[in-house]
Amino acid sequence: MNIFYYDIAVGLPIRQCFTYKSPVNIKKGKRVVVPFGKKTLVGVVVRKISQPNSFGKSGAIKEIISTDEEFVCFDKSIFNTILWASDYYHHPIGEVFFSFMPTILRKQSNKTITSLNEISDYEVNESNKSFKLTKEQELSLIKLKKIKKFKPSLIYGVTGSGKTEIYLQLAEKALKENKSILVLVPEINLTPQLVTRFKDRFKGDIGVYHSRLTPNQRFKVWLRSKFGEIKIVIGTRSSVLMPFENLGLIIVDEEHDQSYKQSEGFRFSGRDLAIKRAQLEDIPIFLGSATPSLQTLKLVQEKKYKKFDLLRRIDGKKPPKLIPLDITDSPLIGGMALQTMSIIGETIKKGEQVLIFINRRGFAPLYECDNCGWVASCNSCESNLVFHKSKNRLICHKCESVYRINKACPDCLSEELNVHGSGTERVEDILSTAYPKVPIIRVDYDSTRRKGSIEAIYEKVHNSEEAILVGTQMLSKGHDFPKVTLCIILNADGGLISPEINALEKISQQLIQVSGRAGRNNNLAKVIIQTRYPNDLNLKQIKTGDYQLVANQCLNLNKSLSLPPYSSICILRTTSSNPKSSLDFLNRASLTLDNRNGISLIGPLPSIPLKIKGNIRNHLVIKSPTKTYLNRVLKFLIKEFEIWPESKKVKWSFDIDPYDMS
Ligand SMILES: [Zn+2]
Ligand SMILES: [Zn+2]
Repeated sequence: MNIFYYDIAVGLPIRQCFTYKSPVNIKKGKRVVVPFGKKTLVGVVVRKISQPNSFGKSGAIKEIISTDEEFVCFDKSIFNTILWASDYYHHPIGEVFFSFMPTILRKQSNKTITSLNEISDYEVNESNKSFKLTKEQELSLIKLKKIKKFKPSLIYGVTGSGKTEIYLQLAEKALKENKSILVLVPEINLTPQLVTRFKDRFKGDIGVYHSRLTPNQRFKVWLRSKFGEIKIVIGTRSSVLMPFENLGLIIVDEEHDQSYKQSEGFRFSGRDLAIKRAQLEDIPIFLGSATPSLQTLKLVQEKKYKKFDLLRRIDGKKPPKLIPLDITDSPLIGGMALQTMSIIGETIKKGEQVLIFINRRGFAPLYECDNCGWVASCNSCESNLVFHKSKNRLICHKCESVYRINKACPDCLSEELNVHGSGTERVEDILSTAYPKVPIIRVDYDSTRRKGSIEAIYEKVHNSEEAILVGTQMLSKGHDFPKVTLCIILNADGGLISPEINALEKISQQLIQVSGRAGRNNNLAKVIIQTRYPNDLNLKQIKTGDYQLVANQCLNLNKSLSLPPYSSICILRTTSSNPKSSLDFLNRASLTLDNRNGISLIGPLPSIPLKIKGNIRNHLVIKSPTKTYLNRVLKFLIKEFEIWPESKKVKWSFDIDPYDMS
């Protein structure tokens, strides 16, 4: 009898595979069940090996328990993308496989990979193509449709330039060639409107895939897509490795968006994984944005990506200019200057809508004792607590801990406790007192948590005449508000003067995205930025509304400072109950890398927040001139960690291409 040996990855945080044997010949990417210690676990076949190298003799090698599933879980290109990702992000291979396996398949159960036979048909609804394409759209489309193989293309389209119509027509072409389409969006809230556009156009089932669906719902979409029963899937980063019968095209909408980067656990970028997948499948990938990332723009400059410009809005209007409003000498009411209040008043009197952007949720960011200066802070992570009036609680925005309101100061027993600063709830509060008859609609994390709430909010906005929308960066994403003629940005100063790497890229993307939400249907929107720095050089550039100009400046600056995308960064993060262990470990890592050619280090530094659930967090920033060199250095470092006593006392992880540097 033949015996085959396999390396199997299990869903545990372990940087290795385990060898098992079986009399059956099993394909790579298949799901199997294996004995593991006293338990049995689901695993994935990573490779067949000729000779077992562990334990010396083959008798000690355990046998795979179950191999009877008919279909592979991971097709070749998805399988290879996962191997690449595990290597690039230095993340345990089993956990990477499991990140892209439907939850239901991660445990032994009676559910298996099998076709559901619920086939959807697609038919192009010609009457849905209500408007004529602009010249720009038409020219870009002709060229975009000619792309047959892997050649990433940036669709640089200002807000209102009709990017979605381009996506629809590219999808139509793929469908006609009997191919499937994957559309990635950065956030769940953006899925409903895009799904509606695709449904209206193609009259068939659109698979929707994101973390707020139940495991059963997700499994169903996954199966239908795998067996070619649905041909269009729209989802967030977790859907990047969705199996398809014949994938022909990937679209990454709002490619610059930070939500593509997973911020904990397996910290991958959905956009970058999509690009790798498209490369391995040799299919076209289209990245869309009005404010593309510096990384993408650099690759365009280097002619590795192609760029297609949609610089005119379909209504023929130019994108709005931003007007700074100097508030240096103005008293603020809930974050708003008197002048701001009066412009809001004038606008709603005309029956128009106002959009107010404030990048902070809750009522006020500080709850303070006016007598001794005590500030309410979180017991587990030490961040300042935010007062939420609607819940009458203090909430930690870093770790979500919730606290009752103190009646008296815990330090001096004074009852002079007060709130300071302002967030969405406070702005809403002040405006509803000032304009009791006008609908004030708040859009933030708290008001959109329930299922269907975002759809209800958008419906209310579209059905109202005069109305005031108050929201966080959620408002700056994707959705358009044609009746808004005034857009006010309240607290941009933090972003303008931030010392953080790429702060200018982030703030300009945010401001230009917010201002693009407003004013369609022949309305010209006015965009006002309250600021204490009206003469700030960066603001002067941003206010032109010309993102390309700002982006070029950012690129030049980063090139001169060798910052990403002209170098590669990894953050080595630690958590430990003991502050000394954490620093000892990072200090040793720092010493080890100190004399490495080309590597520069920042830190060890305390992370923000410093404490989570009682554990101290620190980090070390590692900068390398290239990605390949960084990869090599990190591999060396992992080998070192294995023999250091310091690494036994901490939990460490790598964050490659970090978005958040704190
Ligand atoms: Zn006090
Ligand atoms: Zn906290």
